[in-house]
Amino acid sequence: MAGVSIQNVEKTFGATRVIHGIDIEIEDGAFVILVGPSGCGKSTLLRIIAGLEDVTSGAIKIGGVEVNDMAPKDRDIAMVFQNYGLYPHMTVAQNMGFALKLSGISKAEIAERVGNAADILNLTPLLDRYPKQLSGGQRQRVAMGRAIVRDPQVFLFDEPLSNLDAKLRVQMRAEIKQLHQRLKVTTVYVTHDQIEAMTMADVIVVMHDGVVKQAGSPLELYDRPANLFVAGFIGSPS
Ligand code: ADP
Ligand code: MG
Repeated sequence: MAGVSIQNVEKTFGATRVIHGIDIEIEDGAFVILVGPSGCGKSTLLRIIAGLEDVTSGAIKIGGVEVNDMAPKDRDIAMVFQNYGLYPHMTVAQNMGFALKLSGISKAEIAERVGNAADILNLTPLLDRYPKQLSGGQRQRVAMGRAIVRDPQVFLFDEPLSNLDAKLRVQMRAEIKQLHQRLKVTTVYVTHDQIEAMTMADVIVVMHDGVVKQAGSPLELYDRPANLFVAGFIGSPS
């Protein structure tokens, strides 16, 4: 069963159509990257999967179940944003446990899940710190920790590394891939950076102006680009 199905999805804002009938089947456990130039509709598609935007037409399925009418909090997903969205007045542990507290999970269970996630992400010594006392990479890890503790079926990442410097970006790419290999959670990851896509994805979906130009493994796209757009995009320096 597919992890996430995007079926003939269209999205208009007012009179402007920004997603033109997109179909993508994402297998359970896959690491799929949506890549394309700024404004091509990547974030909109991710927000549609998360339930933060409605579809104009078409369907989203998660684990085979249509979720079009399901509120974001009821979807079995966790999203990591570009700006992390950490709460400045909460410690690392509180940031990681907050969503669990809201959903009525017991203190003991929260402590256990936060402890496990901190262990995986090397955050254990930092659990009592506040976000302003952390480096960019550490904040990024806390944002991932908040997603992991929810134990979702699907992770959604929207340009999670774009606020980091080049060196840290390379390190975090490797950390996110290791995390995926360990947890095997279906991941949909958005970036405009083709190097990130080529080095991290199982499957790359190249988007342009609200359509899919090609979907395939990094090697397929590199060896057999389906059109000039894909060839140019994959081949150009970031
Ligand atoms: P990307 O993430 O690929 O840069 P977006 O999905 O953010 O692209 O945006 C795709 C297009 O949809 C852009 O032209 C953007 O201006 C437009 N758009 C996104 N959100 C809204 C909105 N809430 N209202 C109107 N237009 C929007
Ligand atoms: Mg975007």
